[in-house]
Amino acid sequence: MDVRDTLSASLKKIETREGKRLNMFVCGPTVQDKPHMGHARTYVFYDVLARYLRYKKIRLFYLMNITDIEDHIITKMQETGRSWEDIIDSNSSEFFRVMGILKNNSVNYYAFATDYISEIIAQVSKLIKKGYAYEIADGVYYRARKFKDYGKLSKQNLDQLMIGARVEVNEEKEDPLDFALWKKKKEGEPSWPSPWGEGRPGWHIEDTAITESFFGPNYDIHGGAKDLIFPHHESEIAQMEAISRKKPLVKYWIHTGHLNVDDIKMSKSLKNFVTVEEALKNYWPEAIRIMMLSMRYNAAVNFDEKAVVDAQGTAERISILQHRVNSSKLTKNERAEEVVKRILAPLENDVNTPETIKEFLGFVKDSLAKSKMTEEEKGEIKYVLNEVEKVMGIVHNAPLPERSMDIVLNLRNELRKKGDYGSADKIRDSLKDEGIKIEDTAEGSYLWW
Ligand SMILES: [Zn+2]
Repeated sequence: MDVRDTLSASLKKIETREGKRLNMFVCGPTVQDKPHMGHARTYVFYDVLARYLRYKKIRLFYLMNITDIEDHIITKMQETGRSWEDIIDSNSSEFFRVMGILKNNSVNYYAFATDYISEIIAQVSKLIKKGYAYEIADGVYYRARKFKDYGKLSKQNLDQLMIGARVEVNEEKEDPLDFALWKKKKEGEPSWPSPWGEGRPGWHIEDTAITESFFGPNYDIHGGAKDLIFPHHESEIAQMEAISRKKPLVKYWIHTGHLNVDDIKMSKSLKNFVTVEEALKNYWPEAIRIMMLSMRYNAAVNFDEKAVVDAQGTAERISILQHRVNSSKLTKNERAEEVVKRILAPLENDVNTPETIKEFLGFVKDSLAKSKMTEEEKGEIKYVLNEVEKVMGIVHNAPLPERSMDIVLNLRNELRKKGDYGSADKIRDSLKDEGIKIEDTAEGSYLWW
């Protein structure tokens, strides 16, 4: 399987070593707000990558960090007057909730940055000792120019980096390129004790402290959105490779494209910020996944009403087929296996999800067009849907709630037979509040939702 690696700017084959697991780290959210559709886009992609690697029987450990201390969180505290704990607790719970609904369930472990303060302090101390970092009045900084490879990931030389460096008010810094490893406490900020006084970690060091704890100084895959390449990922390389002197920090750097809303990059300041929670009110999680996965992971995805309405229609067609074959016995035979192979094959080529979706929808369309199917054919379709679901998470399947609905419906029918129309109506009205309609006909009662 090939993936496009940002550092070498080329397609690289993912190598696995006998008996060794593959380690993957993806930058998690900074939890100053509820998760937005940009998060959904990024994490649906890495979820499919993880699912597919496991589908290929590759042992994978998928680690994600949760940035629970960072400038944005401090700003949020100041803007809202809410406590640090309140902000990070509510937003991280909401993150886990919506990721679950979106079926992003492949992460092995979520590491909260503030659980790794002692590991962070150890890394900063090593960098000072090796001459890569220095302490000034407001914190500890990394001496970017000392690391000869600084700029190798973002393909920039020091002059270009200088132009890009924000004009800093901090005159004590040796160089505008130097970045914070430790920030000393300001009034009202959460802080932890350190050899440099009370303070909090810089953003980039959180990740290397976490990955070193789990994977050591080198690991396989690092993911995140494209806008993290510089300075975030560039600085991670500088930190870890300066500490360990073991290159490369990461074998495959995989970066995802942005999410646009109505063709404009989503940002809070533009007020086109769509939370996952809002989108899920109107669309199935499968529709959101289909929309995201219909575009190449490194291209920009556009979230507009039409794209998501189309994806919802697609998700419903898949679901109709699923319902049609659900009661049949799953049939795994050569023909069905060939179909699955054909559908998933594009993933070998740099995780080409749009091609896989296209192949799959062709199969769904052909299957729905069949007026009569044998039990065996139904069983084969069921097998294909099951296998595709394992990797893509786009088959809407609600067997359990449906069965519970049948139980409710049968009980209500019994009440009606006994003449207890009051209780029967009460059930009907409560279900209506949940968006489920009961239709009573001469032949019996039916449910619609
Ligand atoms: Zn990160």
